[in-house]
Amino acid sequence: MSHPAFELVRDERFAEINSQALLYKHKKTGAEVLSLVNDDENKVFGITFKTPPEDSTGIAHILEHSVLCGSQKYPVKKPFVELLKGSMHTFLNAMTYPDKTAYPVASQNLKDFYNLVDVYLDAVLFPLISEDTFEQEGWHYELESADAPLVYKGVVFNEMKGVYSSPDSVMHTLSQNALYPDTTYGKSSGGDPKVIPELTYEQFKRFHQTYYHPSNARVVFSGDDAPEQRLAILDDYFSRFDRIAVDAEVKLQPRWNAPRQVSGTYAGAIDPEKRRDGMVTVNWMIDPRKIAKKR
Ligand SMILES: [Zn+2]
Repeated sequence: MSHPAFELVRDERFAEINSQALLYKHKKTGAEVLSLVNDDENKVFGITFKTPPEDSTGIAHILEHSVLCGSQKYPVKKPFVELLKGSMHTFLNAMTYPDKTAYPVASQNLKDFYNLVDVYLDAVLFPLISEDTFEQEGWHYELESADAPLVYKGVVFNEMKGVYSSPDSVMHTLSQNALYPDTTYGKSSGGDPKVIPELTYEQFKRFHQTYYHPSNARVVFSGDDAPEQRLAILDDYFSRFDRIAVDAEVKLQPRWNAPRQVSGTYAGAIDPEKRRDGMVTVNWMIDPRKIAKKR
């Protein structure tokens, strides 16, 4: 189960998941690959990049949408939609987290699985991400008629307007941002509709160049497909890159000396019967250094 382009870092057997776990490093780029070999016919692939945003423009979220709007090898407008139509996938999605972006797929059919993996790798490493796509997925101005007001539109902009009008989401975002104000978790990774229109196409392109690189990638495979083939597929893509240094580390939030209190507002009422209601939450940051000591 080896390939000349990869160095085997660890090889362990996990009885709990009936898997052989092989951890590799791609020699040329430093990409990390966890290859789980087992008899599960449900084959899984995922590629994840560390994408810590420095602001609340939703840059990582808009990029997640945009790379799925056409790539060099698959220059169709919506390969994602095409995939959903013809594929036998059992899972297919993409998610933006506060510090990373993940692209997982799964299928029980080997040919379908290889096809999905290829579309995903081409999408994340060689996306077209044109200015049109940025405006469509991110934000743009729209004018319905000559005397109508100029408004912001965009897939992520509209999605986040919905999120920001849900009291629960507002509470969750406020709690997280308030607990870690000096780190990337102090920002809204999904995008704050008030801040999204500050994002430029140049910043957006640069974010992709900085983080969507094999040197910043973690890949996982699992299932009953041939493990050698996994490495061959990856090297086909990764060998086209040279190793770069990526600074995507999230620093720890400095501790406070006293509790802090924040408040925010949301649109509308939680209970439409009542005219005034609110929510309260108490949050603690758990200090990882203290947990480590107790182990
Ligand atoms: Zn979205």
